[in-house]
Amino acid sequence: MLISDKEFGEVIVRKNPWSKNIKFSVSTSGRLQMSVPQYTSNFLIKRFLNLNRTNIREKLPLKNPETQRARDYKKKMLAKQAREYLPYRLEYFAKLYGYKYDKCRLSHAGTRWGSCSSNRTISLNIGLMQVPEQLRDYVIIHELAHLNHMDHSKDFWREVASHDKNYRAHEKRLKSFEPGV
Ligand SMILES: [Zn+2]
Repeated sequence: MLISDKEFGEVIVRKNPWSKNIKFSVSTSGRLQMSVPQYTSNFLIKRFLNLNRTNIREKLPLKNPETQRARDYKKKMLAKQAREYLPYRLEYFAKLYGYKYDKCRLSHAGTRWGSCSSNRTISLNIGLMQVPEQLRDYVIIHELAHLNHMDHSKDFWREVASHDKNYRAHEKRLKSFEPGV
């Protein structure tokens, strides 16, 4: 049986005489699949789906076109915000603290907030638009400091600290966010 859901599209529902509770999984086609006890009503199935929406969204690797589309849209909006903000914020701090970089690139990479290459290109992740401003500024300062120190040496951290005295707390807090969109 299929039920139609506004977020997950067509959801496959399998009634299973042996199952005692409702279970969620991903079908081979990447759709959401529910295994439910034989006599579960549609009302209950939908209610259960609603109650578990966040969990499903976060934990299941769904390939549903609707979710995919929503994610693409979010990425597009973030990229737009990032384009209109991050290069200017970088320029602002570079001027303020007297750094010279060559280029600002925006990245979508899932693992890093930013990077600084030896040709003086600074990359900033568009996901920075989703973290608090102090953390965003910290990442920018961190990458600018790499223009003078390409490592994480004591001198590097001393330089970061001279622009952001709370850098340790910021570095730590940043770990509770994921760069991927
Ligand atoms: Zn670094």
